[in-house]
Amino acid sequence: MSRPPVIAAARRPTRQIRLGPVLVGGDAPVTVQSMTTTKTADVEGTLSQIYALAAAGADIVRCTCNEEEAAEGLAHIVPRAPVPIVADIHFHHEMALAALEAGVQGLRLNPGNLRKEAEIKQVAEEAKARGVPIRIGVNAGSLHPDLYKRYGGATPEALVESARMELAYFAEVGFEDVKISVKASSVPLMIAAYRLASETFDHPLHLGVTEAGPPPGGLIKGTAGIGTLLAEGIGDTIRYSLTADPVEEARAGRQLLEALGLRERRGLDLIACPSCGRAEIDVIGVARAVQEALEARELPIQVAVMGCVVNGPGEAREADLGIAAGRRRGHLFIKGKIVRVVPEEEMVAALVEEAERLVAEGIEARLAAADDRAEAEAEADRRALFEARGADVNHSSEKVELIRRVVHEHDAGG
Ligand code: SF4
Repeated sequence: MSRPPVIAAARRPTRQIRLGPVLVGGDAPVTVQSMTTTKTADVEGTLSQIYALAAAGADIVRCTCNEEEAAEGLAHIVPRAPVPIVADIHFHHEMALAALEAGVQGLRLNPGNLRKEAEIKQVAEEAKARGVPIRIGVNAGSLHPDLYKRYGGATPEALVESARMELAYFAEVGFEDVKISVKASSVPLMIAAYRLASETFDHPLHLGVTEAGPPPGGLIKGTAGIGTLLAEGIGDTIRYSLTADPVEEARAGRQLLEALGLRERRGLDLIACPSCGRAEIDVIGVARAVQEALEARELPIQVAVMGCVVNGPGEAREADLGIAAGRRRGHLFIKGKIVRVVPEEEMVAALVEEAERLVAEGIEARLAAADDRAEAEAEADRRALFEARGADVNHSSEKVELIRRVVHEHDAGG
């Protein structure tokens, strides 16, 4: 007699798409997504949340792009975010065009409330020209009214048909760089809809139980829906939708994938900024050196390598320990507080030494042992760099100009 399988089913084959450096679908690992809860126009607040989400396990982060100020915020956020950014679009197609100007790595369109064929095609053409994928994000709660009527409610067939119609518009302009979600707050409905979507499409599927509510109920609903489908081999990227700090969503997503054996378990958690116009060092090289030095030590801490002292310690303030570079010096920080300033050539060694002491002695003890002069020295470096290099080394203002033009041209055209 054959034994029942003890591992999850083989993943169903899907096409592969790319959001910046992150692959989704095909043989890529299942990824974790979450969404910021800050106003996207609040650049520093949103970036700080994005870093916290990345540290908790998010591979991709979505931000709302609901108004011009949000699109302008994205122009500043995208170059400094450690993970690809997806702009969430409802109702206003010009916000999708503005988000593309801001440089986002993905779009999410809701076919239930963005319904004009010409506008949908315009966005798809623009996304195609830039190599940016789009998620067709169908939601049972905002299903197109015609489909609701035709199918007698938000049935699995109606949700899948909504995605199919949008795909057909995209196909007419030769755009296929697509992932699909068919979310519902009802777990049985969501499972049935995704099973049908998996039989119907070969595009990657983004799984989620929408409006699942606060933990623990929301976690249980999300796990029941997402976990069931993943165990059947369905799904390429996932999001828990919790009424909670989004860090809990990212953490839950990562833990579910680890529990199912779909992602490796993490010991040392190394995060690094993507580098941008502000970088004062070769971030990739330093991150690699830190990884090599720390990985074998199996330290259960989160360590950040940041390219500049102007923004690095703030962006990575959730990390246990980090280093940021500036004016040929390294600023060592613990939970965002500068504890030492060392010459650049000593920064990796100093970070490794501090990591070991942090694990041995604890965060409070290491904060208490901080060099008294470190904060003042760091502040002097930050100020000097800011004065020398200006406020906009990422050319975000140019993108903001383009966004204004896109939005106002649309307004003028009615
Ligand atoms: S170089 Fe500085 S501003 Fe740029 S992404 Fe890294 S830490 Fe952020």
